[in-house]
Amino acid sequence: MPFTDPSAWDDHLDECPLCQSADRDDPALLRCAVHTLLQDGVFMTHNEIPLVEIVSRGTDYLRDLAASPGGDHTTPVPDARLAAWMDAEVRLALARAAGLPPAGALDPRIGRILTDAATWPEKQRADLFERAADLFALKHTPAPERRLHHR
Ligand SMILES: [Zn+2]
Repeated sequence: MPFTDPSAWDDHLDECPLCQSADRDDPALLRCAVHTLLQDGVFMTHNEIPLVEIVSRGTDYLRDLAASPGGDHTTPVPDARLAAWMDAEVRLALARAAGLPPAGALDPRIGRILTDAATWPEKQRADLFERAADLFALKHTPAPERRLHHR
């Protein structure tokens, strides 16, 4: 598989009707960014980028959005402060995929789980990102579409 960082997000921006939409809203954009980052995490892991570093790339994704082909300085983008929210969601999604029971984004167990996961073999870390992306998509996809994309 080709190394897709950061083009996974660029590809997403090119193709996603939601991100292209003029009346896109921040929560939807952030969900797209979280999901894309989780998917991208699979490839970044294979490229030996540490888990901790991948998790903290939310800010880069939001900046890329502002500089995306479809966007310019007049394109509304999520406030940079929301990067903290994005980081928390990415961490939570990974912890859930690692087996954390339903919990809030501030659950103290998340840090421990991620510290542990960071030491896992590459294949296992890549699987974790893949599972996290799937779970995140499932959780945030409206019901009818969920049925279509279910595998
Ligand atoms: Zn999108």
